[in-house]
Amino acid sequence: MDKTISSINERILDGEAVVLTAAELKEMVLEGDVPSHEDVDVVTTGTCGVMSGTAAVMHFRVSEPGSFRKAASVHLNGVPAYPGPCPNENLGSVDLFLYGTGHSIHDPDYGGGFLLGDILRGAAVKVTLRSSDGDLIESEISVDELETARIIGTRMAFRNYTALVNPSGKPVKSIFNAVEMPGGWGGLSFSGCGDINPLENDPSMETIKPGTAVLLNGAAGLVLGEGTRSSPMKPNLMLSGDLKEMSPKYIGGFRTAAGPEVFNTVAVPIPVTGERVLENLLVMNSDIKLPVADIRDRSRILGEITYGDVWVGDERPSYSPERCGDCLRCTVAMSCPTHAISPEGVDAEKCFGCGMCASSCPHGAYEMETGDVVIAERRVPVICRQSDRVRANELSVRLKEMIEAGEFLLRGF
Ligand code: SF4
Ligand code: SF4
Repeated sequence: MDKTISSINERILDGEAVVLTAAELKEMVLEGDVPSHEDVDVVTTGTCGVMSGTAAVMHFRVSEPGSFRKAASVHLNGVPAYPGPCPNENLGSVDLFLYGTGHSIHDPDYGGGFLLGDILRGAAVKVTLRSSDGDLIESEISVDELETARIIGTRMAFRNYTALVNPSGKPVKSIFNAVEMPGGWGGLSFSGCGDINPLENDPSMETIKPGTAVLLNGAAGLVLGEGTRSSPMKPNLMLSGDLKEMSPKYIGGFRTAAGPEVFNTVAVPIPVTGERVLENLLVMNSDIKLPVADIRDRSRILGEITYGDVWVGDERPSYSPERCGDCLRCTVAMSCPTHAISPEGVDAEKCFGCGMCASSCPHGAYEMETGDVVIAERRVPVICRQSDRVRANELSVRLKEMIEAGEFLLRGF
């Protein structure tokens, strides 16, 4: 008999619900131990990656009431934020929209994603406001002084992506690689968490609907609906959550060759209400096609692989300091997209597992197996993962634990 959201919630409240993470379910499938839909109540899925459609809506006090009439422009640590729609005339406070893709006017390696991470780490943020009368007002804020701060993800958790290579003779700058993509088929970059991704496990959005409760960057979040440019073949989600409840581990900056971007982490529960829902949940990396396109023109498809070809090897790099040649300029530090490299090695909290360090160190001080693929009869190394299955899986484990503890109930409409 099919289950309902209410009957599953009753089992959650009774402490009887059987909850698996998507990674656990895939492991069972690999071992030939496929459960029936009656044996599992909820599967928690997750994804983490560069998600350009990230904005924060904020309200906070800048200065004393009466000190300026309206804000004409505002920068936070040099990153532009956009005042409005409410003008807050003469109140000394501002409503702002901040884009995760905003770039600092002072530092080409700093942007909205890094700023959001810094805010959540409790850093003091420099506010520079130019009023509509031309006055300059400077102050500082920290996370506790943000009266309102919500993330609105206009386009998140995409189901489908395209991997990219550069067949031309010249390097190409783009947001789809941490450094300029080497020419001559010198490397492949890709996004997407494959078989643990929420929309890969519910491709026709039978259970993921407007109002579905999720975890967004560690905070309670909500599906507002389908995201911009979502389509039946390429769905994505519009999500929202309280920034102040989020963890800097799950949201932050990701530097690319075309400027800093922003990454997010999302965990979505799939209620196993019937057989068809479970069938969708049995999708495996090797079933999920990943087209490979020319990075200069992303519509020019050069080949096709699967997520089974790219999610291989190591999750994180290893560092052998004795191999370091103390180069004048450390190419590893310059190419690490999350600023995770320090003289001591890798900051595990910041590392994204992208693999850039291993492919950019001339002395092999950093090592990480990221595999290679064959495209148009050429062997191409995977050099940049723009998604992180470790973070995605970690948040799906957190969601499983919350459901098992009765701290998170399903919401379905
Ligand atoms: S690029 Fe490699 S060898 Fe050179 S300083 Fe950096 S870690 Fe050391
Ligand atoms: S894998 Fe290497 S380059 Fe990538 S985030 Fe981690 S330390 Fe930085």
